[in-house]
Amino acid sequence: MEEPILRRTWAEIHLDRIRYNQENIRAIVGPECKVMGIVKADAYGHGAVMLAKTFLTNGANRLAVSSLDEGVELRQAKIDAPILILGHTAGERAKELIENDIDAAVFTYTDSKAFSDMAVMLERKVRLHIAVDTGMCRIGYVPCPDAVAAVKRISELPNVVMEGIFTHFSEADIMDKTWAHEQYGRFSDFIEKLTAAGVTFNVCHCCNSA
Ligand SMILES: *Cc1c(COP(=O)(O)O)cnc(C)c1O
Repeated sequence: MEEPILRRTWAEIHLDRIRYNQENIRAIVGPECKVMGIVKADAYGHGAVMLAKTFLTNGANRLAVSSLDEGVELRQAKIDAPILILGHTAGERAKELIENDIDAAVFTYTDSKAFSDMAVMLERKVRLHIAVDTGMCRIGYVPCPDAVAAVKRISELPNVVMEGIFTHFSEADIMDKTWAHEQYGRFSDFIEKLTAAGVTFNVCHCCNSA
């Protein structure tokens, strides 16, 4: 029996336009830059699996979600690109994280240690991305000498890959970019200090689509 139609609104997603947008992003950033397709919250309601596949076949290199469950959904759909969880992942979920080969954003030693311990136990590696709070005031290390020491301590944990470091612009969608540039300066400066302390990353990421 057919379901009665109770809703009078729906969203119709044209994948060819998603492809067009993705190709334009690739053209703007150039061939050297990596692009991470953001498919948080079911790709902001657009359908995460379909969008993830469309991004990846049209120039995106990686994906990001907001929670482990969203990441697992993509893995179950046979997507094997690197996936980062931008939100908090509790240390208690380390086993699922590692077994699904998903990257975690970290901003505490406690969680990082839990991921490292589980990676050692499973004889696998865990890829971490350090969240840096340059002004969004949501998650991340506030750049300061203590934070350099804290990140270095995480980097020394066994079976940890320092895959990335990132920050989030709080006002990317407004015309005046003064504050975004200030945040970018803080982010770059922090990365320089970490490099000087011997901590480096495979990818440093901050730009968002606004
Ligand atoms: C959501 C998010 C992004 C992506 O934002 P878009 O506007 O979808 O490009 C980037 N960085 C972080 C940390 C985020 O949480």
